[in-house]
Amino acid sequence: MPKIASYNGKVDLIENIKISPMSRAFLFSDSVYEVISFYKNKFIDLETHLDRLNHSLNETKISCSIEDCKSEIEKLLNESNFEDGYIYYQVSRGVDSIRSHFFDENDCERFGFIEEFSFFNQLPLKVMLVEDIRWQRCDIKSTSLLGNVLQMNDAKSAGCKEIIMHKNDELTEGGASNIFFVKDKTIFTPKLSSNILPGITRHQVLKIIKDQKLDFEEGSYGIDDLKEASSIWLTSTTKGIVCVEEIVNLETKINSECQLFKICKNAFIKKYFS
Ligand code: PMP
Repeated sequence: MPKIASYNGKVDLIENIKISPMSRAFLFSDSVYEVISFYKNKFIDLETHLDRLNHSLNETKISCSIEDCKSEIEKLLNESNFEDGYIYYQVSRGVDSIRSHFFDENDCERFGFIEEFSFFNQLPLKVMLVEDIRWQRCDIKSTSLLGNVLQMNDAKSAGCKEIIMHKNDELTEGGASNIFFVKDKTIFTPKLSSNILPGITRHQVLKIIKDQKLDFEEGSYGIDDLKEASSIWLTSTTKGIVCVEEIVNLETKINSECQLFKICKNAFIKKYFS
């Protein structure tokens, strides 16, 4: 199936889309993005993704109509024949003929593509614990992901599929996911701050935890908490909710048969994927 994409509202085959090398997305990574999943042709929490995109646009002062974004995202799904998958959608500050750090009121530039994806092949992950070397506004879903990219590729050389990051011992998040862990029958997750992305799946899982009346806490946690955890989970739009089976550079007491994980995962699948 040829890949289709959308550029400033026009849907075409991806190979027909031409983007200026003077795009600030290309020159400065001056752009923000979303990844939105759909299942059986229906978006999962589209409005929540649009709210987060709006937050990213406001915080970066990129002016763009969120209604345009919404209709372009919907058009991509309507024009594809995929049942299950996700849409990657980014908005940049547009073309800048002089590559200036100082920006003017440019026309924004919108680009998205659609991928087919199966959400049910997520195996437990081997991960690496690394220093969080990113900037201090990780609540903005910016396309500037070099900190994540470098650390994730170091981890890949050690056979890992993800990382868990900490900033001066304080746990932040995964390279492309949020963290939950279980200790003494309570579920913990780092509280929202400018150092982590407010994950949509994190929000969905927290709702499930509350619905199920499970004990949980949002706060600040360190590497020692992870060492003592009996189960560690990562959440994201494409991973859903997935268990960590090993942290290569940290000895843990992970039990892969965690009951709380099973309860949350089953409730998550029932709510969003049935
Ligand atoms: N943190 C980071 C750094 C991410 O890249 C992602 C995935 N986009 C997440 C968390 C999880 O967010 P979501 O559940 O909205 O996919």
